[in-house]
Amino acid sequence: MSLSTWAQQLEAILCDSLNEKDIWQTAGFINPEFKQLKPAPGTYFTHEFELNMVIFRKTGWTEKDVLNQISKATHIFKQCGINISPIKMILTDAPQNKIDINYNIREDDHMARLTPLTKKPVVYFIRSNIEGQLAYSWDASIEPPGSPRLNTVWITRNKNPKQNVLAHELGHILGASSHRPGLEKNLMSGVPEFINDRLEKDQCEAFKRSPLLKKTVINMELLRP
Ligand SMILES: [Zn+2]
Repeated sequence: MSLSTWAQQLEAILCDSLNEKDIWQTAGFINPEFKQLKPAPGTYFTHEFELNMVIFRKTGWTEKDVLNQISKATHIFKQCGINISPIKMILTDAPQNKIDINYNIREDDHMARLTPLTKKPVVYFIRSNIEGQLAYSWDASIEPPGSPRLNTVWITRNKNPKQNVLAHELGHILGASSHRPGLEKNLMSGVPEFINDRLEKDQCEAFKRSPLLKKTVINMELLRP
């Protein structure tokens, strides 16, 4: 890569960060704040995926609740050698204070269309879902390509979700579209009482085939004795 190309890229990144707040405000998101989370170093991963999380204020979600969800998800996907990185958090007021989402009239699709993010998955932390779900997601088995809400996750606060709800929903998005059958205890069980942190090898393999994942660049320094 030539020096001038490097300079152009660097400039683009700087411009983006300066304008980011304006872009979100123009799209209807009030007073957004941005945080980038640093992943824990020193663990060997073969794959990774980027995660964006939009946390709406006045929903009851606190930053600590969200960090608990993300640290649980990080721990669970580590079993497969999958890292979640980079992780970006956007704390904001919802456009028109829409924090109770009705998916039958595609309010989530509209919200996803407004959201100025290009990378998926995007997770929304909302107050409630009108249809009464605790959490739900739109994966490629149910949502057509090009749909704004494809690869989005919606987690409500009002039903007091357990700490592994984010990991379960990301499991759907990453390719475990159906629930684990029978009475097997697993992250992807369809029976709430049977959901635990466990993932099987075939599930890890399925995740690694997801187009949302990429192979990590192996750091040879870490492999040296
Ligand atoms: Zn599920």
